[in-house]
Amino acid sequence: MDLQAIIDDITAELSPRLGEGNVADYIPELAKIDPKQFGIAITTVDGNTYQAGNAGTAFSVQSISKVFMLTLALGKAGESMWKRVGREPSGSAFNSIVQLEHENGIPRNPFINAGAIVVTDMVLAGHQPREAIGEFLRFIHYLANDDTISIDRRVAKSEQKTGFRNIALANFMRGFDNIKHPVEMVLGTYFHQCALSMNCVQLANAGLFLANRGTNPLTGFSVVSARRARRINALMLTCGHYDGSGEFAYRVGLPGKSGVGGGILAIAPGKASIAVWSPGLNEVGNSKLGSVALEVLAARTGWSVFGP
Ligand code: GLN
Repeated sequence: MDLQAIIDDITAELSPRLGEGNVADYIPELAKIDPKQFGIAITTVDGNTYQAGNAGTAFSVQSISKVFMLTLALGKAGESMWKRVGREPSGSAFNSIVQLEHENGIPRNPFINAGAIVVTDMVLAGHQPREAIGEFLRFIHYLANDDTISIDRRVAKSEQKTGFRNIALANFMRGFDNIKHPVEMVLGTYFHQCALSMNCVQLANAGLFLANRGTNPLTGFSVVSARRARRINALMLTCGHYDGSGEFAYRVGLPGKSGVGGGILAIAPGKASIAVWSPGLNEVGNSKLGSVALEVLAARTGWSVFGP
């Protein structure tokens, strides 16, 4: 199978559609991004990397960071973390507050904003936000084996000024005692984690442990057990695209996590880690062309967790 030819074709086929969808404008810094961009990178478990389009351009990974923060939190808190966050798809928007009132401030899953804010609160664990962000960034460097990856502080500051819904979510959960640190500390950490800036190649490398039983085959670094990698993939499949998760599973058939920066990380277990990026979003806040690209890639490669 010629993966390079497949992604070159997909990039060419999508080029007339560049600019479709809407960039996330509720974060002013993200509203400035040129929507006519598309990149894709694949890293396979046997150590090859393929890239096309704007695969070398760094973008704001936003909610894709939640996969890595969850991995870090599981390492610290273990399975006890599930007392404070659920594992069910929400069927609601990423920034929804409605279910929290009826469910005692316990978010449905770690990938909606409310759940991710609880996970960040766990990783803080009595530290200053600066230390937690430093730990997070070092973890990303370890996963991707790349110390050049950084956090875009302008994006973090931009979201800090306008993140009213996240402020509401965090305060609401603090009212249920499911946020243990001052809300400003938790959100300061959360906004910086979301402002992680990576290109498609770096992101595909960082996610590769999830395709290879918890170990990065490029470096040999063991990140999590095989069982934990499977479980993180299960959460990505069921909850990684919010109220678009069913549609993504139906069309693509792989665990995936989206972000409002227009990136998607998808995992083909036993085969490869795939990162796509195109800033225009669909109605539920997932990359429009990124989703199309993954649907076509899955069809042409035959990669699916639901059978050959
Ligand atoms: N930082 C964004 C927010 O909290 C992340 C949302 C996303 O990528 N879906 O609104």
